[in-house]
Amino acid sequence: MSFPLERVRSDFPLLSREVNGQPLAYLDSAASAQKPRQVIERELGFYEHGYAAVHRGIHTLSAEATEQMENVRTQAAQFINAASAEEIVFVKGSTEAINLVANTFGRTALHAGDRIIITEMEHHANIVPWQMLAKERDLHIDVWHLTSNGELDLSELETLITPRTKLLALTHVSNVLGTVNPIEKIIPQAKAAGLTVLVDGAQAVMHYSVDVQALGCDFYVWSGHKLYGPTGIGILYGRKALLDQMPPWEGGGSMIKHVSLTEGTTFAAVPWRFEAGTPNTGGIMGLGAAMEYVAELGLENIHAYEQELMSYALDAMTQVPDLVIYGPETRSGVIAFNLGKHHAYDVGSFLDQYGIAIRTGHHCAMPLMSFYGVPAMCRASLAMYNTREEVDRLVAGLQRIHRLLG
Ligand code: PMP
Repeated sequence: MSFPLERVRSDFPLLSREVNGQPLAYLDSAASAQKPRQVIERELGFYEHGYAAVHRGIHTLSAEATEQMENVRTQAAQFINAASAEEIVFVKGSTEAINLVANTFGRTALHAGDRIIITEMEHHANIVPWQMLAKERDLHIDVWHLTSNGELDLSELETLITPRTKLLALTHVSNVLGTVNPIEKIIPQAKAAGLTVLVDGAQAVMHYSVDVQALGCDFYVWSGHKLYGPTGIGILYGRKALLDQMPPWEGGGSMIKHVSLTEGTTFAAVPWRFEAGTPNTGGIMGLGAAMEYVAELGLENIHAYEQELMSYALDAMTQVPDLVIYGPETRSGVIAFNLGKHHAYDVGSFLDQYGIAIRTGHHCAMPLMSFYGVPAMCRASLAMYNTREEVDRLVAGLQRIHRLLG
């Protein structure tokens, strides 16, 4: 099937706007993706026709909203092939999901002297919660270092695992290098050694069809806003047997079974036990539309189109003098680079003048910047709605900056 690029682009209203007098080339989807009309309209429709508090009222609107929300939970379970909807917790995003696991699983299953493995390519969201926990609980963090190519050496895992190692927390796809970690090989190895495995799928679910049962991971987290859905909504997948053992994190309404001032509180079953307070129902509805949108196009088709565009871009970028590209040849979604000695902010500001939106900075991956010995990088993301013309404009823009700045 040839990818329906024009139709897809026309579904995203924002892509047709101009920036600095130029047509927008939006190459920053790894930070946050634009939203198709279908997502915007679903959320709007909910507020216009179906809005009410969920899990509370007996009235029709509340019952309808509750049913729709639970349908999205089922849809999310199917999206990553979880065994049941009860394994899906609605959270704000990947960051909250990892903090939830660190604060509930971490605080009960990990004890002084235990060890956690993370990789050198993690986003701060998959570093800082573990560091905070480690400090509080006297745990030790071992770092799985990278090869010079920006990949993980699989044979190194064995040497990192000790009898005290309890958890491996790693990203599926690097948000900076685009490295696709072979988690289908890593997870069985870690599980065989008795580790619990958390996978950060924030940069993976929009490029790959994920099957958590086939992978065998214990936790898998992702954010709606990178999957063309709304901000403020994300998913924590947790294996039911593990979730059942985990105490709640935040206390409040909706997560209780019974509250007594004298006898204390008993908690609801999972996943509701982890969803205190009024949820982001508008976001949940929009996320449902986003998953539908992506599923209808087919992640295999999206992936094939994106990979073709990625090879085109990597090839085209060789035409830019003094351009250093970071990371492996085989990659997904992002191209991080620096142009000669110029600071990423300068390069990004020039590109913005040409209507090209990229991300610059440390990309919430400071340890990775240290690994490469640079303070910052530029990062161009390639999403399913990007085109060869946009890549050509990026290349021409970089060539021009090189001519101007030397
Ligand atoms: N992990 C990775 C790999 C990411 O790219 C991001 C977002 N940049 C996050 C975690 C955090 O996601 P969020 O900000 O949506 O919670």
